[in-house]
Amino acid sequence: MTTGRPPRTPSHRRPGSRALRILLALVAVAAVLGIAVLAVPMLRPAGPRPLFQMPVSCGETWQLSTYPGHDDYDVDFFPIEGEAWGRPVLASAAGTVTVAGINGSLGGRTPENPDGPRGRGGGYWVKIDHGGKWETQYLHMLEPPLVAVGQKVAQGDQLGRLGSTGNSGAPHLHYEQRRGWDKVETYFDGTASGITTDEREQILRRVSNNCSAVS
Ligand SMILES: [Zn+2]
Repeated sequence: MTTGRPPRTPSHRRPGSRALRILLALVAVAAVLGIAVLAVPMLRPAGPRPLFQMPVSCGETWQLSTYPGHDDYDVDFFPIEGEAWGRPVLASAAGTVTVAGINGSLGGRTPENPDGPRGRGGGYWVKIDHGGKWETQYLHMLEPPLVAVGQKVAQGDQLGRLGSTGNSGAPHLHYEQRRGWDKVETYFDGTASGITTDEREQILRRVSNNCSAVS
């Protein structure tokens, strides 16, 4: 018996649909690989904490402080002697510069006009990737950073000069250490700073052992 129509044998459409299936499979594999490439580094645990040093010159005593409304773990550095403006800001550990620019707006606070208009955010700032998901951040610098994105720095290399750009009341260095996405308690020379909350004002003093730079 026949219907008058030639039977549609599978061989007529199989090549095309097989090619489509292969293409879809490749797209799916590529998508899974793409997600894995993005996700795996995020899931990987952090490496050991680098031996961070204070971001200021070897042998100097600085005030480390925080205040209500700052943010947990954030540390503000003020020198206890000498002029704050222009003091060298140093890399806490070796790494690669991932940000060197302006956060927010600069405002107009300079050594000549210390009470000028306040800016917003971090002003001139630098971020360094130390590997193993560890980062440090340096905010409110006086001038454009002395380092560029992609540049490798050694511990103690100068990143910029201390200032009061961005949302800053007085010349100081706002400083953070991060592990992955999270801010963590700052450590210097292997010892915790003790600044873990912004629920109360805290002021302490420490001596910089950022002494490895060859100069
Ligand atoms: Zn701060």
